[in-house]
Order: sequence, then structure tokens, then C-alpha cells
Amino acid sequence: MTPGPLRPSPRAKQRDAGGSRDFPIRREAAGSDTRRPTLGDGPFSAPMDPREGLHRSREHGGVARRHVLGVAAVALAAPWVRRAAAAEARVVVAGGGFAGATAARTLKRLAPALQVTLVEPEAVYTACPFSNAVIAGLRDMEGQRFGYTALRREGIEVVHRAARGLDGTMRALELDDGTRLSFQRLVLAPGIDLGFDALPGYDPAAAEILPHAWRAGAQTLLLRRQLEAMDEGGTVVMSVPANPFRCPPGPYERASLIAHFLKLRKPRAKLLILDAKDIFSKQRLFQQEWARLYPGLIEWVGLSKGGKVTSVDAGARTLVTEFGRHQGQVVNVIPPQRAGLLAERCGVADRSLWCPVDPLTFESRRVPGVHVVGDAAIMGAMPKSAFAANAQAKIAAAAIVALLSGRPPAEPRPLNTCYSLTAPDRAISIAGVYRPLGGQLADVPGAGGVSPLDADDSFRAQEAVYADAWFRTIAHETFG
Ligand SMILES: Cc1cc2nc3c(=O)[nH]c(=O)nc-3n(C[C@H](O)[C@H](O)[C@H](O)COP(=O)(O)OP(=O)(O)OC[C@H]3O[C@@H](n4cnc5c(N)ncnc54)[C@H](O)[C@@H]3O)c2cc1C
Repeated sequence: MTPGPLRPSPRAKQRDAGGSRDFPIRREAAGSDTRRPTLGDGPFSAPMDPREGLHRSREHGGVARRHVLGVAAVALAAPWVRRAAAAEARVVVAGGGFAGATAARTLKRLAPALQVTLVEPEAVYTACPFSNAVIAGLRDMEGQRFGYTALRREGIEVVHRAARGLDGTMRALELDDGTRLSFQRLVLAPGIDLGFDALPGYDPAAAEILPHAWRAGAQTLLLRRQLEAMDEGGTVVMSVPANPFRCPPGPYERASLIAHFLKLRKPRAKLLILDAKDIFSKQRLFQQEWARLYPGLIEWVGLSKGGKVTSVDAGARTLVTEFGRHQGQVVNVIPPQRAGLLAERCGVADRSLWCPVDPLTFESRRVPGVHVVGDAAIMGAMPKSAFAANAQAKIAAAAIVALLSGRPPAEPRPLNTCYSLTAPDRAISIAGVYRPLGGQLADVPGAGGVSPLDADDSFRAQEAVYADAWFRTIAHETFG
């Protein structure tokens, strides 16, 4: 681990050193269910990437050269971090998904004396990874659900309320019941909001007819029921937005698994994908898998061929593009996205509707003392995934503990891997390693890559096993 170039600004130093005096910790209304046993100080591992060595280089298709740097694990092992003088400090985390729950657990593990409060409206979190398998009837919803008992057991205060925004001091988070939680540092991890205003005709009512299923839960099950009820020779139409959006390979994994379902259950049915892009993640791999597994079943229409959906006619189950209208018996609209509304309310989102952050600390570029992790953040090349959210949360937590103890944060090398099932027992993947460069996170040249084209069945099957292991590992690491 090399010390990062960042030094706390005089203002940040003053705030962090004297934070508890200037902004005393206070809680002004009830509303939490706190249990506070002591926390073990055990090691914290980076999410397992069991598929090390499978990838070929992105540039040349050659033999694996991927460097798995395990930055988070390295950073978290630093002894000074464990001694962080954060005893009086409170860090509030808003949003209990892969990013927020990981941030809360990491903070508490690194600095057991730190007061960590997690604000999350839902008592049970429903995970999106593997929800495409639920849609295709390959998996139960129960396997997607996770609670917060382990976090409480570790001494994290979990408050099941929605956060509303910052108060006038900018040092306290307001909840929907009027509670104000003061903090020395705030972590925002609200995920995404669906851009209902960005696609004419598509609003929450339309989503009850044409599901998005891009936030897992009732929408996932609605799409599954619609597919099951569809006529033998029906058409499924999907619309996919332009970048950036949550889980770049997710729509194409969904298309693969829907095609698998149709092949088995409705062999005369067709799937049409209307895409607002001409290039998508793992494109050649997906298209090779589609040609091999689902010949003639999937039609993909990219931007230049008229794939961009410009409006929706929910009553007619029709998607409108510049080139025409496409009706489906089942229509899955994945709309454009933006950072969760809380980010906007806290002033950390910019005109892009996402939240620019410093890649060393994930501190907001707009509001000092507030860190943004997970899908809501933008910082360059790193995509929006649960893997990335988990990695970013660890980096932010380590940086916060460092800053609170007056030390420079370490320079991170986060990594990301996204697996996609193309059939129940087949998967492909993409991996990237990133480093801070010019105020962003940039790809580390020569690291990362995608699964090889033309791999044999056993290779694809092995990746499906790794995908399953990855999900179980990251879910356990995030929620216990
Ligand atoms: C179909 C699909 C498949 C996917 N597959 C994969 C995959 O295979 N691998 C992978 O790595 N990623 C995958 N992803 C992406 C992954 O789900 C997201 O990147 C990840 O969930 C982002 O985590 P997050 O914590 O930033 O956001 P979220 O998981 O959305 O969590 C945000 C949390 O914030 C809470 N919240 C919102 N507003 C407030 C508020 N005002 N106050 C308090 N809390 C609030 C929400 O209730 C929620 O619990 C997939 C996504 C989809 C849609």
C-alpha cells in the first residue's frame, strides 16, 4: 500500500479534528431500534473472485494478465486504521444496499469505537443480482432477500426510516419523521432512481403494465408472471437505455434468460431488444451465446437501426422509436436512470444527475464531509454494479477512518467483476481494475478483460459456478 497524495484540506482537518466540538453528536427524536453488543475485530476480506486466471486480456484476447490487487483488503489491514482515534465520532450511512451496508460494516470493523448509524427504510433488502434468474423461473425470490440482524449484532445502529436531506447546518441528516442525526462524516448510498420523467408515457402507473424490474421485488415477480401467462407465439419486447445505468450487462443477461424460458416453454415466441446504444457490454460474447443457444429467437436492434425508444404507449403495450412502433404481449421497459433522489436532496448530484466524487475517498465534489458510494456515484471508468458498490464502500470507509484520525487515505486500486448467466448452467464475465488518474478512476492498462470467445461448454459451466459463489460471498460479506 502506498500513501495517497491526498492530504486533508485545512478545512477538513479542522472539521474532522474538532468535529465533535463544533457539531456535537445528538439525536433529537426516537425512531431507531438499537442493539449495541461489542464487535469482534476480525479481518475483513475483499469479495472472493474465484475465477482468477480465467480471463483473457481485453486488448489482445491473449492469456490472462489480470491483476487482482485486492485493494480493499490491503487497505483495511493497515494497523493504524484499527487504532483510529474515532471514539467520539459518528458516521451516518444512508442507504442499506450493497454499498451502504458494506460501508457501515467496514467502518465498524475498522474503528469499533466509532458510532455508526445506518438509515434504511426497508427491513429487508431485495438484491438485484440473480433477479434475472427469478424472472426466468430458475430461482426463488427468497434467495434475494437479506436482513440487517448481523449489522445490529456488530454494534451498528440500524434505523428503518427514509432520509430526507441535510439540515441547514449541513452536518445533520434529517429523516422522514423529523429526526436529525448529526455526523462528522456522512455516507450516501441511495442507489438509483428510475427516470420516469425521461421517457414520455412511462410512469409508475405504466410500470404496473410494462414492468421495469430494475429494482428487485414486486416488479421482478410481475415480469415473471407476465412471461408465464404469455401466449405460445407471443412477442416479448425489451427497451434498454443509453449509458450510464445500473449493471451494464444486466439487460443482456435478462434477454438470455428470458430466451431460455421461451425456448423451453413457448418455443414459437420471439424476443425483440430495442437498444439506445450500438455497443454494449460483453457484446460479442452475448451475441455468440445467442446464436448458439437461441438461434432465431432474439432480435437486437441498436441505436443506428432505430433501437432508441422515445416514448411509451402503455395502454397499447407499445414502444415508440424514431423508426416505428413495436407492440409486445410482454413489454419490459428499462428506463433511463439517475442517482437516488436523496442524493439530489443533499446537493451531491450535479447536472448529469449523478454524484461526482474524489476517487481516493469517494468524498463528494460538491459537499465536503459527505461521501457517495455505489450506483449513485460517478468517478470515471468503474461501472455501476454490486461488486463495485462493495469495493467503493470499503475504500470510502477506510478513507473516513483515516481522515477522522488525521491520516492521509491510501491510494485505492478497486476492481470489479460482473458475471452474466446466458443459460442456467452457463456464464460469461467481464473484469476491470481501476486506479485514480486525473481526478477519476481509470482502467489499469492490461488488467481485467472478458471471458474468451469460443470457450468450450465446461468453461462456460465453470463460470456459472463462480457466478453463484460470487453472489453468495458478496451477500454474506454485505449482510452477514
Ligand atoms: C437485473 C439486475 C441484475 C444485476 N446483476 C448484477 C450482478 O450480477 N453483479 C453485480 O455486481 N451487480 C449487479 N446488478 C447491479 C446491482 O444490483 C447494483 O449495482 C447495486 O445494487 C448497487 O448497490 P447500491 O447500494 O448502490 O444501491 P441499492 O442496492 O439500490 O441500495 C440502495 C439502498 O438505499 C436505500 N435508500 C434509497 N433512498 C433512501 C433514503 N432516502 N433514505 C435511506 N435509504 C434510502 C434503498 O432502500 C436501498 O436499500 C444488477 C442489477 C440489476 C437491475
